[in-house]
Amino acid sequence: MIEAEDLRKSYGDLHAVNGISLRIERGEAFGLLGPNGAGKTTTLHMLAGAIRPDSGSVSIDGERDPTRSEVRNAIGIAPQDLAIYEELTAEENLRFFAKLYGLAGSRLGDRVAWGLEFAGLTDRRKDHAGKFSGGMKRRLNLACALVHEPRVLFCDEPTVGVDPQSRAHIFDRIEEVKRAGCTLVYTTHYMEEAQRLCDRVAIVDRGKVLADDSVDALIREYGGQSVVEAEFTKVPDDATSLPGEFDDTTLRIQTSEPFAALARLGDRGAEIAQLRVERPDLERVFLHLTGRRLRD
Ligand code: ATP
Repeated sequence: MIEAEDLRKSYGDLHAVNGISLRIERGEAFGLLGPNGAGKTTTLHMLAGAIRPDSGSVSIDGERDPTRSEVRNAIGIAPQDLAIYEELTAEENLRFFAKLYGLAGSRLGDRVAWGLEFAGLTDRRKDHAGKFSGGMKRRLNLACALVHEPRVLFCDEPTVGVDPQSRAHIFDRIEEVKRAGCTLVYTTHYMEEAQRLCDRVAIVDRGKVLADDSVDALIREYGGQSVVEAEFTKVPDDATSLPGEFDDTTLRIQTSEPFAALARLGDRGAEIAQLRVERPDLERVFLHLTGRRLRD
C-alpha cells in the first residue's frame, strides 16, 4: 500500500504540490487526472522517491525510506521525459536497466527477451533507440521500467505524443500489467484513459486533490445528468409541453434516464433524424469541480 501524507513542493513562489494526501491499495490502478501544470508529475516523483518533498511523507508498504534497495527494487518508474539511452540499442537499454536492478544470469536474459516482446521490438532489438519513432521509444521506456518485475509501476503520461497505433499498444500492455496484479499509479490528462484503466482517480488541479474516488462514484457525485439531444424530421405531438429546451426542430433534455426519455418521444409520434446521448463523464466532473474544461 502507498500512503502519502500532506505532500508539499514549491519552486520559488509556485506551490507545485500544495498539500496532497493519498492512499493507494495494493493491486489498485490509481489515476492522477488533471490539466498540464496541475502538479501530477511532481506528485508522482515524490511518491516514487525521485524528488524529495519540502514537507509531508510517503510510505510504500510501510517503508518510509525510498532510497533503500528493497523499496527501489519494488518499484518501476516510466517517466514522461524518457529515461532510455538513445545511443544504446533496444536490447542494451533493457540489459542496462535490468543490471541496475541486480538481475543476472539466465533471469537477466529472460527478462530482456520479455521486455523486447512487451515493447514489440524483438525484430528491432539491435537498432539504436535514437532511430526509433516516438511511440517505439515510449514502449521501450515502459519495458525498461518493468524489466525487474516491480510490484508498483509509476507511469507518467505514457501515451502523450505518440501515434494511435502505439497508443493502443501501450494501453493494452498497461492493462496486462494491471491484470497481473501490479499496483499502478498513472498520470494523465486524457480522461478516457483514466476512465478505462483506473479503479480510482484523484482529480488534481493547482497542486491539490479536489476529489478522490472510483470513476463511477465521481461521476455519480459530480457528473450531473445525461443529456439527450434529438433533432426531429417529425416533431412530436404537443412538443412545447415536453420537458427540456425545445428549439424549432431540436429538443435537449437533461435526464437521469435517457432511454426512458427517448421511449416517451417515440410514444408521442416523434420521428428522429439525429440523436445524441451524452452520458456524464470525468470531463464533466472536472468542469463541475473547477469551472474549467480539462483541456482548456
Ligand atoms: P504536465 O502534464 O504538463 O507535466 P503536471 O500536472 O505533471 O503537468 P508538474 O510537471 O508537476 O505538472 O508541474 C507543476 C507546476 O510546477 C508547473 O507549473 C511546472 O511548471 C512547475 N514545475 C515543475 N517542476 C519544476 C522545476 N523543476 N522547476 C520549476 N518549476 C517546476
